[in-house]
Amino acid sequence: MRNPEPMQGHQQNWYEKRRGVFPRQIDGTFRRLKWAIMAVTLTIYYATPWLRWDRGPYAPDQAVLVDLAHRRFYMFAIEIWPQEFYFVAGLLIMAGIGLFLVTSAVGRAWCGYACPQTVWTDLFQHVDRFIDGDRNAQIRLQNAPWTVAKAGRRALKWSIYLAISFWTGGAWIMYFADAPTLVREFWSGEAAPVAYASVAVLTATTFALGGFLREQVCIYMCPWPRIQTAMLDEKSLIVTYKDWRGEPRASVKAAQKQQAGSFGDCIDCNQCVAVCPTGIDIREGPQIGCITCALCIDACDRVMRQVGRPRGLIDYATLEDAAREKAGAAPTPHRKLIWHPRTLVYFAIWAAIGCALMFALGTRRHIDLAVQKDRNPPFMVLSDGTVRNAWTLKLKNMEGRPRSMTVTLDGLPGAAMWTDTMGREDAARSVAVTVDADAIRPLRVYVAAAAGTHEQSFAFRLEAKDAEGGGDRVKARFDAPEGEGESE
Ligand code: SF4
Ligand code: SF4
Repeated sequence: MRNPEPMQGHQQNWYEKRRGVFPRQIDGTFRRLKWAIMAVTLTIYYATPWLRWDRGPYAPDQAVLVDLAHRRFYMFAIEIWPQEFYFVAGLLIMAGIGLFLVTSAVGRAWCGYACPQTVWTDLFQHVDRFIDGDRNAQIRLQNAPWTVAKAGRRALKWSIYLAISFWTGGAWIMYFADAPTLVREFWSGEAAPVAYASVAVLTATTFALGGFLREQVCIYMCPWPRIQTAMLDEKSLIVTYKDWRGEPRASVKAAQKQQAGSFGDCIDCNQCVAVCPTGIDIREGPQIGCITCALCIDACDRVMRQVGRPRGLIDYATLEDAAREKAGAAPTPHRKLIWHPRTLVYFAIWAAIGCALMFALGTRRHIDLAVQKDRNPPFMVLSDGTVRNAWTLKLKNMEGRPRSMTVTLDGLPGAAMWTDTMGREDAARSVAVTVDADAIRPLRVYVAAAAGTHEQSFAFRLEAKDAEGGGDRVKARFDAPEGEGESE
């Protein structure tokens, strides 16, 4: 793939002057696919914070919420605690491998259809058409001197850019707090300063990147095209101009004056260049500026239909298939080009991580016990000769309701325990506690065993005392003075 060429006829500069890009409106299969993906992705982004999910009275009812204050991540029925961050890491790894999978199967489809930069740039380009008209009107207005009418149009267009950008920044912060509450607080000036700062930064970046920098982000700023270039091979689907069929180019009239077969199918109408959102000419070969949005395929197919020639002069093809086609073979159907060994390997890795995460989610315990022993001193001999050890227990309840539980000594015959909220006179083999909804309850526990008890292992057993049940068991070690007995 080629990098952008230096400007023709000028001394080579460090920075290329931007050529204005005014893509023409086009209709066709891929344009309609882009409309559908744009509608789905924008709806997901703007609407998700407003979806509700009933988790009972003790947890927020926002379906997707990153609750930084309480260190929780909610996603519909799933609630991730900080110590379960491996789920989030797993999802990020899946997203990364998913990008490799998509690149291997359908080339730069992510760039062409679903990347936020592409989606918002597309949205802003539709605003341009709505306010200024299609390509020719936009070019005329761009070259026209500044008048009150031009200034008015620019002000209106940039105001719409700003409104979209502000809405985009505003939607982002709603993923981090209850959306209706945050909107109320935001407009009454009661939201946290970080909320206003985040909206300001995201509004400014969306306005600049989507409204003005556009294709320059893809060509010069984003590292992903460079990474993808290294990942593409002769089996990767890319948008290809079939030069063996299109060249030499000539207009329909010029071709008619010559002997049949003197010219190729390209009538040099430049429609493929006019619709390109990055302003490149795909007839010059694969290049880094091509985000494979396929709008040039729609444009060229339309032209071929009008001049009565077969579609597909510009089409998705692999380099391998292009070479075969050039040698006279029929083009391979796209669905057969998608599945090749590398794609299958990526898919297997991606699916394996997904299955592992689902299994871990499905089998995780909703109550949990952690124990930490006092190390200094490891034991105390009380005035009546009994030996006492102390622990800090942490009882975790991941349910959205308070739960009654018992902690029981499993082993250590004759020993009894009490907590810092009860007296030693109430010591027993088992204590009852209630753990708040969606909380960890720390509990100081003292265990006393008769004089002469030797060092030995035992366990704390946690049991939920409700219909759902469940529990946990954690091994511990009871320390005693040396010479009192043997280990284990
Ligand atoms: S749209 Fe098709 S026919 Fe027209 S210039 Fe491009 S490749 Fe040639
Ligand atoms: S060359 Fe075609 S596929 Fe590539 S960015 Fe331009 S319109 Fe999209």
